[in-house]
Amino acid sequence: MGESKVAIVTGSARGIGKAIAMKFAKDGYDVVISDILQDVAEQTAKEIEELGQKALVIVADVSKAEDAERLINETVNAFGRLDVLVNNAGITRDNLAIRMKENEWDMVLNINLKGTFLCSQAAAKYMMKKRTGRIVNIASVSGILGTAGQANYASSKAGVIALTKALARELGPRNITVNAVAPGYIITEMTEKLPDKVKEEYLSQIPLKRGGTPEDVANVVAFLASDAASYVTGTTLIVSGGLVM
Ligand code: NAP
Repeated sequence: MGESKVAIVTGSARGIGKAIAMKFAKDGYDVVISDILQDVAEQTAKEIEELGQKALVIVADVSKAEDAERLINETVNAFGRLDVLVNNAGITRDNLAIRMKENEWDMVLNINLKGTFLCSQAAAKYMMKKRTGRIVNIASVSGILGTAGQANYASSKAGVIALTKALARELGPRNITVNAVAPGYIITEMTEKLPDKVKEEYLSQIPLKRGGTPEDVANVVAFLASDAASYVTGTTLIVSGGLVM
């Protein structure tokens, strides 16, 4: 058996990030679980080791440049390689625009958009030297629709989609692909917080008549990271049961 490929998934202690990390482990990757929640991340790492792959926990806040750089450096030092970066860490701080506090805007933009930029920049420096790599960014249909009550979140995710394209253009000549996945209504702790009325409203608009699972998103991320997607770059793949098409 050859050496395993290595994937970093940010914000992977729980939710969609955890499902992505588990899918990579099932596909034979060693995985870096990166999050701000150490205890929960350790638990996820244990579940990955039970699948027979190596798991390394790196506590890092993606919105801080020094953490983003340390994340990449510690990964390369530990495993000697980095094949895939998944920028999944993300938060919501929903509010109507006229009521939105400056810090609600800043926090969401700093983690969702700046964090994706900082981690991609640090990873790209390594991947460019290797002349190979995959970056997959988790956007959202909110970044396409401009969802009311989410001026900060929608702007951050629209930014992630544009950042994906700019990076795809810059890194393509070095054989690095950069793609985004835009999930719709996925059942996680993030969406559990939504009012019942909003959940019903989403379901009524989804042709497939169910909320998505974290695994529905993880499967598509795994595809974009795989050799099967070697000629796909700069795209945003929508995983929304048809909510957005
Ligand atoms: P989640 O359950 O809240 O998981 C997000 C993880 O990221 C949490 O473990 C969180 O830790 C961590 N995190 C937060 N801030 C961080 C930071 N600065 N640095 C590193 N890690 C950080 O959310 P989710 O639903 O799985 O969402 C994952 C991604 O999918 C996000 O980018 C989200 O925007 C996107 N998405 C989700 C949905 C959906 O329906 N759920 C739809 C579209 C897009 P804490 O718990 O401590 O904050």
